[in-house]
Amino acid sequence: MPYIGRFAPSPTGPLHFGSLLTAVASYCDAKANHGKWLVRIEDTDIPRIYPNSENHIRSCIDAFQFEPDAEIICQKDRLEIYAQVLEQLKHLDAIYACQCTRKMLGSNHIYVGTCRDLHLDFNDQAIRLKVADQLICFEDRLQGQQSSNLKHDLGDFVLKRRDGIMSYQLAVVVDDDLQGITHVVRGADLLDNTARQIWLGSLLNYPSLSYMHLPLAMNDQGQKLSKQNLAQALDISKASNLLQQAILALGQPLVELDQPRIMLQQAVQQWDINLIPRGIHLTGTFL
Ligand SMILES: [Zn+2]
Repeated sequence: MPYIGRFAPSPTGPLHFGSLLTAVASYCDAKANHGKWLVRIEDTDIPRIYPNSENHIRSCIDAFQFEPDAEIICQKDRLEIYAQVLEQLKHLDAIYACQCTRKMLGSNHIYVGTCRDLHLDFNDQAIRLKVADQLICFEDRLQGQQSSNLKHDLGDFVLKRRDGIMSYQLAVVVDDDLQGITHVVRGADLLDNTARQIWLGSLLNYPSLSYMHLPLAMNDQGQKLSKQNLAQALDISKASNLLQQAILALGQPLVELDQPRIMLQQAVQQWDINLIPRGIHLTGTFL
């Protein structure tokens, strides 16, 4: 079975130990399956881009000696492609313009479809994707059977914001298809997004993907390592040490300190997803 995997960080802050876990797991899983591994920078949310973090991502890829099998792509260079897919969805009558403001939506997290039948003009409005009242199920390689009814759990969701920003959901689904991705390995914080992405992909007739959502590294206050709670940036001068810790945190056998390239080769040879800790959270103290 062909395997094309990816690592798709957002440059909304420097990469941290949690990002390294995702990079290592997606890389080892692809290479252990004789697959390709691609890197994509998910930078459609321009107001949230953190200065210089794209450079930090690129320096980490180099310092940890990951070797992507294609040029790194940036989603901000691909906005035209997402706009074309929105046109396609418009022809399928799968989207509509929504004029609800954040204030009107209030604290209700499930969109009730206020604008669904208003046939508003698409210009300068948010664009929502219609969801159906049906169960979307998939088998996650680590987290097991998952299911969600988008209508009951979420409602019609936004693909393009009123300010013109293309949503993460849209860009991910389109690029996974255009890059020929077959396997998604990412953090369990994105588990909730998967049903949305499966639904959108199915409307566009894209092939279905295999998913594996990794447990999340937590800080010593029990919060997930993230840019929002100021997880420490990866220090590329300690690449080999950090790599060794990441491999251990993923439950894999010890890899002796060496050049990152050699360590990654060994980690690929030893890679066994059955050893990855189960659950949504990784316990332990991480940098
Ligand atoms: Zn609305």
